[in-house]
Amino acid sequence: MSLQACSKCGKRAFYYRSYSGEYLCEGCFITSIYENVKNTIRKYNMIAYGDRVVVGVSGGKDSLSLLYILGKFYSKTNEIIAVTLDEGIAGYREEGLEIARDLAQKLGLRHVVYTYKDLYGYPIDEIQGIRGKVSSCTICGVFRRRGLDVAARDLGANVVATAHNLDDVLQSYIITLINGDMERLLSYNPAVEESSAFGLRKVHPFLHIYEKELAMFAMLKGFRLQEAVCPYMNQGIRSEIRTYLNRLEERHPGIKHQLLNSFMKLSSERRAAGSGQFCERCGWPSRGRLCQVCSFIDYLSRQENKKA
Ligand code: SF4
Ligand code: ZN
Repeated sequence: MSLQACSKCGKRAFYYRSYSGEYLCEGCFITSIYENVKNTIRKYNMIAYGDRVVVGVSGGKDSLSLLYILGKFYSKTNEIIAVTLDEGIAGYREEGLEIARDLAQKLGLRHVVYTYKDLYGYPIDEIQGIRGKVSSCTICGVFRRRGLDVAARDLGANVVATAHNLDDVLQSYIITLINGDMERLLSYNPAVEESSAFGLRKVHPFLHIYEKELAMFAMLKGFRLQEAVCPYMNQGIRSEIRTYLNRLEERHPGIKHQLLNSFMKLSSERRAAGSGQFCERCGWPSRGRLCQVCSFIDYLSRQENKKA
């Protein structure tokens, strides 16, 4: 605990923000997170007056914080709807669902649940015997992105907001780089992904916030956090990249922001949202003949048939 004075108001500081050289008290820290989000939303035109916004809320600290901030500052000018995707993971999802529902209720926001079972016919628990070498998280991630798109379309929303933070975005860039997916690397826009399908804008208002600071924000706000851990969690190389980036940031405060700027410059040239191509089965934007969702559903049903 620091005895330094807050650089903004002079009260006792509780946190030293090394990348900016500021000492912050709790109140000024919370205000700085609000300001960061509002500036990011303004800078990238993420949310305009009257937009109907679906917020993906898993019940984790980041998504609860996002729902809270959007509910607090945007619900007078916009309809904010919390959406939770139920992956079908017994013993794990129930808790997050309840937490998300409670917060939405406190904020006076509508909360809607979509299940993978209804959307795709394959809850994550049921793919365990048939997923082969593909990790649950890979399939789950593809299903989650589509689930939020479907929710937005059903609910008449034109914006989907998710709680990806600076660390998440950098990890994704580096994984894309390692995989050599140059097309994605050069077209990825971590601020606003336009979907050519239904005029949908997918926005990430926490783009410039460190994961560590979101954890502090959630703690200060006293959100009830999910304790259950997904039994299929497989972070693979992502958690190693996370540790590596944190180590770099400790030694070189601000390097994460610098890296983000570099990646965004790299991709700014070719940001064409979607390829203009559509999946020939489901009609959603796709980089190939079949989108990733339909490809995975095909794959799972082939695996199921093999077993039968
Ligand atoms: Fe889905 Fe993986 Fe998250 Fe579990 S840990 S909910 S399988 S993405
Ligand atoms: Zn498809």
